Amino acid sequence: MDTQAQGAIARLTQELGKLPGIGPKTAERLTHHLLGSDRDTVLALADALRAIKESIRRCRQCFNLTEGELCSICSDPRRDPKVICVVEQPRDLAALERAHSYRGHYHVLHGRLAPLENMGPEQLNVDALLRRVQQAGVQEVIMATNPTLEGDGTALYISSVLTGTGVTMTRLARGLPSGSVLEFANAQMLADALEGRRTF
Ligand SMILES: [Zn+2]
Repeated sequence: MDTQAQGAIARLTQELGKLPGIGPKTAERLTHHLLGSDRDTVLALADALRAIKESIRRCRQCFNLTEGELCSICSDPRRDPKVICVVEQPRDLAALERAHSYRGHYHVLHGRLAPLENMGPEQLNVDALLRRVQQAGVQEVIMATNPTLEGDGTALYISSVLTGTGVTMTRLARGLPSGSVLEFANAQMLADALEGRRTF
């Protein structure tokens, strides 16, 4: 193996090793798996990786990930725009969608208040949420931030921002074990948590 080949292999192993849950051993195994795969398979993966950065953007209304201006939920006339469910990440939205019980819209913060990580109110899309609530006749905002210290703090902060708009604020029922992350909760638990939501 020449040094150039070694360099390319090391580079891929290094990049794969940056992914969550992938240690050096797994990164090396994946690299060798890809080295042994045919050209089309590997290029399909490369194209898929490029596509998530080149064609996916944030919905201009709810900040969900989308390929168009508006995401599939915001542009679906069967969804109720008067109810907005606030989540931390697109993966939380995906978890709630898997529960098949929610028919409203979403607002994706892309984070939660975490002062130690420099995540302040200005990094979240809270201003945009306030504008939506003020302009669009929204009746209910459901806080579906994670049941963690930071998730709860974020929900509390948002409720203080929305106070005075007259919107009803609710919180997912505490069927979810404290500290559990929405994305790992099963569909029935999430459906129950939505069903049993209560006033904030
Ligand atoms: Zn949207």
